[in-house]
Amino acid sequence: GLTERLQNAMRNLRGKGKVSESDLRATMREIRLALLEADVNFTVVRKFVKTVEERAKGAKVLEGLNPSQQIVKIVDEELTQMMGESAVPLNKSPKIPTVIMMVGLQGAGKTTTAGKIALKLKKEENARPLLVADDVYRPAAIEQLETVGKQIDVPVFQMGTDTDPVEIAKQGLAKAQADHNDYVIIDTAGRLQIDTDLMDELKNIKAEINPDEILLVVDAMTGQNAVATAEGFNDALGITGVVLTKLDGDTRGGAALSIRAVTDKPIKFVGQGEKMSDLDIFYPDRMASRILGMGDMLSLIEKTQQEYDEKQAAELSAKIKENSFDFNDFLDQLAQIQKMGPLDELMKMIPGMANNPALANVNMDPKDMEHIKAIIYSMTEQERTEPDVINPSRRRRISRGSGRPIQEVNRMIKQFNQMKTMMNKMSNGNMSEMENMMKA
Ligand code: GDP
Ligand code: MG
Repeated sequence: GLTERLQNAMRNLRGKGKVSESDLRATMREIRLALLEADVNFTVVRKFVKTVEERAKGAKVLEGLNPSQQIVKIVDEELTQMMGESAVPLNKSPKIPTVIMMVGLQGAGKTTTAGKIALKLKKEENARPLLVADDVYRPAAIEQLETVGKQIDVPVFQMGTDTDPVEIAKQGLAKAQADHNDYVIIDTAGRLQIDTDLMDELKNIKAEINPDEILLVVDAMTGQNAVATAEGFNDALGITGVVLTKLDGDTRGGAALSIRAVTDKPIKFVGQGEKMSDLDIFYPDRMASRILGMGDMLSLIEKTQQEYDEKQAAELSAKIKENSFDFNDFLDQLAQIQKMGPLDELMKMIPGMANNPALANVNMDPKDMEHIKAIIYSMTEQERTEPDVINPSRRRRISRGSGRPIQEVNRMIKQFNQMKTMMNKMSNGNMSEMENMMKA
């Protein structure tokens, strides 16, 4: 993924007291490739690389202290800048109702996002939104919005499939005015691709209801196409903001980087799942850090507190209870931790651990993690699943295979066993025992 590529690109610089111009050039070439591969628009990449390079040279970064860290910082700042610097809230009309028009291609997530936004407004502002079913081409579309409305307890205005969408939008707005709704959210129809029929219809609706916000919904999984779609809608209709959906999937992240630069319109929200609560404000700085793999702690902490990954947690806790937690599980956990950020932060996210004083000094160096991984990779499958078989001669073999000293192998296995015991005790409710171990 993009994150790994960027990290690799910058790895060459790490630990260098001095960075030469050719080091910098090599790194920038890698960054350029990583961004292009992640579907970031070509022009955007070129501009980005140029800016970073100029800043790195101009500020005499290369001769200063910790040049590699400073370059990472510049890359982070420029990525943030590229996505718009700070979060942009929804436009609001001075008098109610604020009119929001949802537009986008079929399947992008308009109907789902209309519901998510309504729920957010309801929860956060105590607002009373009205949803308007303006996709008349598929009867199922109206039903879908009604189902969404029921789920979040928000009224849905509809006139069936036989009325002109412009008329429905007009009547929907009138209804919201009459009922004193704070927001009216118009769910329009999409097409498989941009065509003049669709754009004409949307332009007519826009002219009729004069929306405060035209939110383009794009599917992040479509990569470059998402960027082309954004450009197309913006040119033809003029949008005021973007919602990037399906960021929970295996997306390459490039869309988020290009859309702002190409359309000059802010990404306002990101969809991170199918549930009505899966909508987040888009923070460029957090997204940049996430892309750079510096851990998106703020979002992650919010997310984890909202809903812990219950299935995984349940599986893990079953293994711990049965005392069958092995080196493969340990590797999985390490990978999780590396994805999420520093170990101490992760530990604090485990429910009930946040204020545990025993955690104050827990920390793990990324280099140590690589060493641990190297040691585990040198184990056979049997050794991983049945750690008890690892006798002294196996330890020596593992040490040679991983290139780590025997003492380190011994220490790692000892720590693993302690951790396993600790987790087992903890899962059986013996917290004070665990605290003692952590202090030791
Ligand atoms: P529309 O045609 O633009 O109205 O799109 P829909 O709202 O009907 O969504 C199409 C599909 O995408 C549905 O199955 C949604 O559940 C799904 N979907 C929408 N937003 C997200 C998201 O943020 N994440 C995931 N995983 N699925 C989403
Ligand atoms: Mg729809």
